[in-house]
Amino acid sequence: MCGKLVTVILPAYNEEDNIQRASQTIAAVLEQENINYELLFVNDGSKDGTWEKILAESSKNSRVRGVSFSKNFGKESAIFAGLSEARGDCCAVMDTDLQHPPEKLVEMYRLWQQGAEVVEGVKASRGKESAAHSFAAKCFYRLISRAVGIDMSRASDFKLLDRKAVNVLLTMREKHVFFRALSSWIGFKTAEVEFEVADRAAGTTKWSTWSLVKYAVRNIASFTSLPLQIITFLGILVLIVSVVLGSIALYQKAVHTALDGFTTVIVVLLFIGSIIMISLGCIGYYIAKIYDEIKGRPRYIISEKCGK
Ligand code: UDP
Ligand code: MG
Repeated sequence: MCGKLVTVILPAYNEEDNIQRASQTIAAVLEQENINYELLFVNDGSKDGTWEKILAESSKNSRVRGVSFSKNFGKESAIFAGLSEARGDCCAVMDTDLQHPPEKLVEMYRLWQQGAEVVEGVKASRGKESAAHSFAAKCFYRLISRAVGIDMSRASDFKLLDRKAVNVLLTMREKHVFFRALSSWIGFKTAEVEFEVADRAAGTTKWSTWSLVKYAVRNIASFTSLPLQIITFLGILVLIVSVVLGSIALYQKAVHTALDGFTTVIVVLLFIGSIIMISLGCIGYYIAKIYDEIKGRPRYIISEKCGK
């Protein structure tokens, strides 16, 4: 097997039941097509036997490598660690639970050979999810799409990037990276491959509703300052309403028809109060992000490596 090398990056957090299956399935698909590859597992501080399984795979197949984090740093950090450790002429990123179909890797690789520099895996459908989840996801992706300038509603982390694109991503020093959006934002010659999200091979998803909300808020804040513009707009809106209501109140006072208006005072006070609190929270969040960034701590800490 010779020719250009593709590194397949596989972030893994508590995936002990999927490592062997992922490694063997992906290796088989690529070997069949005579593609020169390396598999790079990134153990994101798993609490189960994931790292032992990666060590076992790497001793069986010399094309399997692994890096292990000192603790859980999150999928985004794991992807970037993979990009930084990869030796390939191009890098593919996919989930270890095989929800991203390995056969599509071949299609992506061929598109890259034909000159595409960023090959995006696009979800054919969003799969099964509740109405509330689907609505929240729609709002989130609309905001992110606006910030990136590209429709992100069917975007995924399943991608294949040329070395040129990988090197550009690696120059980005921000601590909170959002791979899915950043890899579209950088531009380059782009191609798309549609795929159906498969069911998880084994284990369960790491995402609770709360962790998804935190993920959305963090990524919105790291990609766009639109929320700050929204609160400014809200402030202007409240100002207009208060000028109208204030004029009416003054007029009523002048012609001596002013009512006691206790309820109105309470309602207006609470309304303005909550808008101020929300705005402060929003600004505070951005300040906290700046604080996080200037501390300049590493995105991840590698404790062990394996493979040649
Ligand atoms: N993952 C990770 N670190 C985390 C959470 C998840 O590396 O903190 C990996 C996980 O092992 C899997 C991929 O990211 O390979 C996608 O995670 P998951 O299947 O839980 O998410 P879902 O597919 O449900 O969106
Ligand atoms: Mg999954």
